[in-house]
Amino acid sequence: GFKCGIVGLPNVGKSTLFNALTQTAAAQAANYPFCTIEPNVGEVAVPDPRLSELAAIAGSKEIIPTRLTFVDIAGLVRGASKGEGLGNQFLAHIREVDAIAYVLRCFEDDDITHVEGRIDPLSDAETVETELMVADLESLEKRVGALEKRARSNDKEAKEQLDLVNRVLPLLRDGKPARLAKIAEDERAAFDALNLLTSKPVLYVSNVDEGSAATGNAFSARVDESAKAEGAVSVAISARIESEIAVLPEDERKEYLEALGLEQPGLDRLINAGYQLLGLVTYFTVGPKETRAWTIERGTRAPQAAGVIHSDFEKGFIRAETIAYADYVTLKGETGAKEAGKMRLEGKDYVVADGDVLHFRFAN
Ligand code: GDP
Repeated sequence: GFKCGIVGLPNVGKSTLFNALTQTAAAQAANYPFCTIEPNVGEVAVPDPRLSELAAIAGSKEIIPTRLTFVDIAGLVRGASKGEGLGNQFLAHIREVDAIAYVLRCFEDDDITHVEGRIDPLSDAETVETELMVADLESLEKRVGALEKRARSNDKEAKEQLDLVNRVLPLLRDGKPARLAKIAEDERAAFDALNLLTSKPVLYVSNVDEGSAATGNAFSARVDESAKAEGAVSVAISARIESEIAVLPEDERKEYLEALGLEQPGLDRLINAGYQLLGLVTYFTVGPKETRAWTIERGTRAPQAAGVIHSDFEKGFIRAETIAYADYVTLKGETGAKEAGKMRLEGKDYVVADGDVLHFRFAN
């Protein structure tokens, strides 16, 4: 599955947030398949209001959301890139995730020590990212000599990589993450193969005080502004409030959210932001037994999308009966959509769209 790493300085609320995420999942375990793979790895259901709409129309007995994995990556300290403390292990964990959520302390509390002695989320983000940039810089500088040698002997792949490295290195030396490099679509694969820490998409999570759960505060406003300038995503939540919401029974939850002025739990916003950040989209299978959401990467074609359900579906793929979500809802289901000519028969080149209701035809 797709993994989002939770990263930040000590005492910013990472564990509180991670526990809230997994407790929500645990509370829903009766309905939603959920597992804790390791103490610091948890799968959470991706909330999607379309699921219940579809299930109501089809009279499905069960709703099965798709899932996203969060990893609590503790152990960041200044000097991590130098292998200090748990530094190496920390960097290795980051290398394994597909995206990074930076948790930034945006709450004041004299009882909880801030490692840098003051509340400054943007400076904290920089401290964390500097360690990753230093690690990337060192790894590229180590590789560049060998690449130059291969490029001189006309190795095409080496030339391509060297070209990328020569664009990324000045950025890193200038204190900027590799993700800010301008990468053409056809260079994307080679860029990803560099396996850099700072090329992963990031999400800034402002952990605000309990009173600012609905509105954010002055600290989180600065984070939002900075994220926007970078073209990154930011979410303001109160981890402490979220951990309280997470353990409430469903009926009390709604009341509590209203009292706080929240439309939905902050975690829902966080999970959805992570999902988008990873470039993921959802398609649905709908029937009387269950309505189920499936995750694919944006741009996935129908046979590979079918393969997410079962490899036989991909191997024997014939076609996908496709109804757009909006048509399915407006025309009140498959029969109505068919009658209105809104069920399309799509072949192996079809790029599945977010919200498609699919029925795969395949041969064994
Ligand atoms: P981590 O080291 O980043 O994993 O941080 P923790 O989740 O262990 O949190 C450190 C301390 O900050 C704990 O005592 C939390 O209860 C507290 N904390 C976390 N979020 C909030 C918050 O929103 N408000 C306040 N006042 N304290 C919080």
